[in-house]
Amino acid sequence: MTEVRLTPILIADPPLLNTQGVHQPFTPRLIIEVITADGTVGIGETYGDSRYLELAAPLGEALPGHAVSDLNGLFTLAERVCGDPEDPDDVSDSVDVGGLRGVQTADKLRLSVISGFEVACLDALGKILGLPVHTLLGGKVRDTVEYSAYLFYRWAHHPGADTPRDDWGAALDPAGVVAQARRFADTYGFGSFKLKGGVFPPDEEIAAVRALAGEFPGQPLRLDPNGAWSVETSLRVAAELGDILEYLEDPASTTARMAEVAAGTDVPLATNMCVTTFPEIREAFATGAVQVVLSDHHYWGGLRNTRELAAICRVFGVGLSMHSNTHLGISLAAMTHVAATVPNLDYACDSHYPWQTDDVITSRHVFTDGRLTVSDAPGLGVELDRDALKVLHQRWLDDDGTMRDRDDAAAMRQAEPGWRTPAVPRW
Ligand SMILES: [Mg+2]
Repeated sequence: MTEVRLTPILIADPPLLNTQGVHQPFTPRLIIEVITADGTVGIGETYGDSRYLELAAPLGEALPGHAVSDLNGLFTLAERVCGDPEDPDDVSDSVDVGGLRGVQTADKLRLSVISGFEVACLDALGKILGLPVHTLLGGKVRDTVEYSAYLFYRWAHHPGADTPRDDWGAALDPAGVVAQARRFADTYGFGSFKLKGGVFPPDEEIAAVRALAGEFPGQPLRLDPNGAWSVETSLRVAAELGDILEYLEDPASTTARMAEVAAGTDVPLATNMCVTTFPEIREAFATGAVQVVLSDHHYWGGLRNTRELAAICRVFGVGLSMHSNTHLGISLAAMTHVAATVPNLDYACDSHYPWQTDDVITSRHVFTDGRLTVSDAPGLGVELDRDALKVLHQRWLDDDGTMRDRDDAAAMRQAEPGWRTPAVPRW
């Protein structure tokens, strides 16, 4: 490639609640463009918080001259220019078991950055070769990928006059959750439902899932409190909802607690918190702590690493699903391509996409019957909307710094000034 362009942006985000707080009105993403000598542009997307930008910048500077086909070399180069993950002074290496995505390590941050570049390189390579990304990964094994409705407790609006608005209204009780699910089902055809929990005391969330089961009998349901519960509470919820849950996602924090929960219930436990990197797999699988891993190409280090994760899960008889953070259409395209190639993707994938009103692609993805059709166009099959990118980048430039790093607890303090991130277990 001859040039790399990195464009941090801020995208509108609704007031979706979780155990840490609430989504901010705007959240950062990083759009990556790699340009080859013949003018081909490959695009990728990843987290856009400051600590990711700090790693992306030196990698972007080092990449010109590197072949977009040399994906293994991309990792080697990143190790060289993005710092030594063994050096605690490089970037944050803190243990953050209460975080929504599990422990934050320097290695994981770096992989999250690499993933955006890897996707951009695959997009460029596909365009040059006239092949879709799924073909570069070995070929699709399905023509459509199923997604689940991602339900959130939420406020009607963010506090403040200048915040983005939508027409979803509040969902703070079982009736609100069911109404939201009904709209998801009617609009997009989603047939499985995940509720982000850890927001209200467990009995209220049990009631919400029961209400969903009443509205959508027999359809797959999931509940994800992001590790907010004790082992005892987790087991109680599992006992009360065991007959209707497809899986229970991260009821408790840490692999050890998850293993304790797993030993006491037949409800499958899923995670995107205690197994988020390859080194975390061994203990979790050996102790039977998880029955389903939620892959995420962002923090696992790209589409090819996601396939390696899938192979490991297949070997150990562990199920595979897909996690989502707030993201735009480039990442959804990447998720869909890799999902199309994984034989043992056993569950509908998560996606925040229906909540996002902004995008940087010219034609938004459309869910039909809860599914996306896998693109056979060269590369990812999506085109960058430069006007939209410019507007969203200007928003990032204009921000005084308060939105450039996602902070759900800070957003919560706008409504509840005394709010602090709850210690886990919260219940
Ligand atoms: Mg989760």
